[in-house]
Amino acid sequence: MISNTFIGDIIHKQRDFFATGNTKNINFRIQQLKKLKQIIMDSEESIYQALKLDLNKPQFESFATEIVLITKEIDYTIKHLKTWVKAKKVQVYWQLLPASAKVYPEPLGVVLIIGAWNYPFLLAIEPLIGAIAAGNCAIIKPSELAPHTSTLIAEMIGKHFPPEYIAVVEGGVETSQDLLQERFDHIFFTGGKAVGKIVMTAAAKHLTPVTLELGGKSPCIVDRDIDMQKTAKRIIWGKFINAGQTCLAPDYLLVNSHIKEDLLIAIKQNLQLFYGENPQLSSDYPRNINTKHFQRLEKFLQSGEIIIGGDTNKDELYISPTVIDHVNWDDAVMQDEIFGPILPIITYTDISAAIATINSHPKPLALYLFSRDQNLQKQVLQSTSSGGVCINETVMHCSVPGLPFGGVGDSGIGRYHGKASFDTFSHYKSTYKNPFWVDINWRYPPYKGKLSFLKQLLRF
Ligand code: NAD
Repeated sequence: MISNTFIGDIIHKQRDFFATGNTKNINFRIQQLKKLKQIIMDSEESIYQALKLDLNKPQFESFATEIVLITKEIDYTIKHLKTWVKAKKVQVYWQLLPASAKVYPEPLGVVLIIGAWNYPFLLAIEPLIGAIAAGNCAIIKPSELAPHTSTLIAEMIGKHFPPEYIAVVEGGVETSQDLLQERFDHIFFTGGKAVGKIVMTAAAKHLTPVTLELGGKSPCIVDRDIDMQKTAKRIIWGKFINAGQTCLAPDYLLVNSHIKEDLLIAIKQNLQLFYGENPQLSSDYPRNINTKHFQRLEKFLQSGEIIIGGDTNKDELYISPTVIDHVNWDDAVMQDEIFGPILPIITYTDISAAIATINSHPKPLALYLFSRDQNLQKQVLQSTSSGGVCINETVMHCSVPGLPFGGVGDSGIGRYHGKASFDTFSHYKSTYKNPFWVDINWRYPPYKGKLSFLKQLLRF
């Protein structure tokens, strides 16, 4: 077990290292990002292996949904960093001339990154890119529920970065809570809503700002004006990659009643194309993370009527891709984020009522709409609120570094990816500079006779 003294010691050393100013040097930051990318590329095989052991993740998914998102993010960050670090000039009222104003981004100091288990490599390393780019020191606490990946991250970082700059602290809830007792300059947390509240409460003690990347029930609306096959494929892909253990996965479908039967047929056909007759035998279909989550998901199978899948194997932590019909909002499966390979279907006939239903629930991390109808696209965009939206697609928006990624309301606080990561780990320092060569006496007491002059001056 990791002791509090050990944690305190690392933070102390990181504070000393931060105070040297080394991390602020732009060339240093770029060098570290390049090094991080190289380490990841050199460790590709070990990453595949760790993710296979933790989640039975297929190599393709490990590459496409973890490794490449990180390497592309590093490239994007390196490309833009010299622009992002520049102080930005801000206009002042002419009455204040010759004064000038600028905003300087500066690093926050020592930051804590707490990761989740579902994309355990990505969720620990992607925030680190922003922390390095902005010039901070960082401590990473990967999820203990993906132990092979956690150990690999600790080894990779421990071997190549000094702990006074970047350190990995492995451990579970207790270690996380020990870390949270300390003062950090920012806490970046990915995980569930309940733990998010614990993190925010702990951070409040030190007035530490937080980013909370949480989850939620992300709806997927399917209108009648669609390409049926492509819609089915894109929904299945977003739902069943990583066996549904994706914060952004479409949680449930809200389907126009006119096309429901056809959509179900298309989903069934495409599931077979993706994973074969028996998905348990497919090397492309991952497993649930552990028995606790398996049992939580198994209970959801009692909701509604299973029309596709519903097969389970506890020893293998396997639940087949499952579609459940005839559910209602009182069913267990609709009470909380599913976070597994179970897709409930609710039908609608009136889109306004469907939107009202979405709006009567907490704001989701993502909202998906399948429709060619431009007016409907506009209506849904304007009348709902969610962390992000995809139209005729699922999940893909998180792969665009220019799109800030994060939730709203119950689905999270703050955002990252690309420039948003740099902003998250920076303080924007507002500065005002006034030379000595002129100093008009309009603002100094005694004020007698100056108010009317000031009013005149401000008219222009
Ligand atoms: P979790 O909240 O159980 O755990 C996340 C981290 O918090 C882990 O590192 C864990 O060690 C730590 N932790 C757990 N209990 C704690 C406690 N009592 N005190 C302090 N720290 C504690 O989440 P999880 O099960 O790892 O991940 C699942 C959730 O994360 C889902 O809700 C999912 O939607 C969400 N998620 C969100 C994103 C996103 O980017 N928005 C990404 C992945 C997962």
